[in-house]
Amino acid sequence: MPNRNPDHRDSEHGDRDHGGRENGSPENGSPENGSPDGVNVRSKDYLIARTARPCAHCGVRTTLVALVLPPSHETLSQAEGDEELPDSWDEVPWSAFLFYVGYLPDRVQQRMQASSKTYRPAVSPAAPESYWANHCEHCGSLQEDHDLFCEPEGAFLPVDAASASAIELTRIDEPIAAAAAGYACAPEYLEHMIRT
Ligand SMILES: [Zn+2]
Repeated sequence: MPNRNPDHRDSEHGDRDHGGRENGSPENGSPENGSPDGVNVRSKDYLIARTARPCAHCGVRTTLVALVLPPSHETLSQAEGDEELPDSWDEVPWSAFLFYVGYLPDRVQQRMQASSKTYRPAVSPAAPESYWANHCEHCGSLQEDHDLFCEPEGAFLPVDAASASAIELTRIDEPIAAAAAGYACAPEYLEHMIRT
């Protein structure tokens, strides 16, 4: 006798639990900070970039923040092909913007959220895992990292000195170690951003 699946009669056995399952399954919970296992950039200090732009959804101006690593930060190079070789940290002589940031240490999270209360983990079709993202302070909608960092004239991709001068940079004299899938090295017009 072939092992056939009968129709939907299984439910007659009543083994489905209708009793309280309301206490929040993880998949419905808020996106969370990633894992420190993914750390791939680090620095002895960093800068918080801050600007304001019209929200992509409601059009009202909202605060946007980003992380910048100064020269002498380090990036992790994974040893390719040979698992015996250890990963190595390479020093980079330029500044870099980080985006699609999956993991941030607690202290950096607190600093960023002090600059923008609506900076928090988000999920998006644009990224395979949750990442730290700006949200509109008026309507709450996600402000995609792609639009902010990868599109010319995006909030953190200035195309001239004037647009760069809309960005404020605040140096934080504390170490950072983060997991970032997006990394924009030697950004143009950095010298025109305003140091606070
Ligand atoms: Zn909005």
